[in-house]
Amino acid sequence: MSDHKRQLTGLTLEELTALLESRSRALAALRWLYQVSPVPAALPERIPGVSPEAWANVRKACELSLPRTVMRRVSADGTLKYVFEAAGARFEAVLIPAEGRSTLCVSSQSGCTRHCAFCATARLGFGRNLHAGELVAQFLIAKGDAPAGSPLRNVVFMGMGEPFDNLDEVLRAIGILEQPPAPQLGASHITVSTSGVLPGMERFLRESESHLALSLNATTDAQRAELMPQTRQWPLAQLLELLRMSSAQSERLFFVEYVLLDGFNDSDDDARRLVALLKGVRARVNLIPHNGFEGCGYRPSRSERVLAFQRIVHESGIRCLLRSSRGDEIGAACGQLALRS
Ligand code: SAH
Repeated sequence: MSDHKRQLTGLTLEELTALLESRSRALAALRWLYQVSPVPAALPERIPGVSPEAWANVRKACELSLPRTVMRRVSADGTLKYVFEAAGARFEAVLIPAEGRSTLCVSSQSGCTRHCAFCATARLGFGRNLHAGELVAQFLIAKGDAPAGSPLRNVVFMGMGEPFDNLDEVLRAIGILEQPPAPQLGASHITVSTSGVLPGMERFLRESESHLALSLNATTDAQRAELMPQTRQWPLAQLLELLRMSSAQSERLFFVEYVLLDGFNDSDDDARRLVALLKGVRARVNLIPHNGFEGCGYRPSRSERVLAFQRIVHESGIRCLLRSSRGDEIGAACGQLALRS
């Protein structure tokens, strides 16, 4: 890959319009990019709807070199896991087909900047931030693998990495994913999940209308500090105060992710503390069964505990869903992305 050329997948409509000196040519180029199948390994000499002279400017400034797919594995439930490689970095994505639509879980970093004790990705350490072009390329590649009746319509930044430690590129990628004429995802079809990086959350709420998911995973700062060491910097009270303020000022709905760990954060008291913490927050709680990996000291909660926890939260009036674990046997479930192949 050459250094001086930009990835076509990472350009905004405005940038493409400037290069092609016309918005309608830029729209034609985007239409081509998101329809062409297979995606060519390099930019062709001409594309439909754009004069070869104008297109030559794009070819001079840009390239189209998608990440290489190093591994592609389908699990029994139809979940598809990819391992990609680009410029020396490896990262993973997971395509999750469902009734009528598919969801893609993308990585924002190769490895991760955070050190959550219950997550397999953390063991890899940090590789590098992914560029917007690499974030969008994950969508472009997976789009072609979505089943016919379940087109790829949702993107969640819940793969490897902490998106709010790479927020410039994540925001740029979201802008591109929302662009007309393609992929043109609605803001509500994109979710960014954070381990709780407060300054990033503040900026995201100002600059994006997409969903924010907060991986809470604990109900006391002591508990959370053990699981997610960065929390010393941004305690629970501060994280939730931001969501509370935002809930008072807008209609935003927040997803609160909570990984249930046996005997650690799954008691009735935890459930009650969670309800108290979420007072005034327009929240939906997603309970995530812990997915194990070798060398992990935590175990998933027993199912009667999961149900008791869910009932307490639900009875307080907060919607509380139990995430089903998909792709577990191919290491594609939450927190299992650790480049096993
Ligand atoms: N860094 C971001 C996004 C990646 S993690 C974040 O923390 O939100 C995506 C989700 O997977 C988070 O909710 C996280 O708590 C959860 N997770 C991590 N490891 C897990 C594991 N082993 N089992 C189940 N969920 C896990």
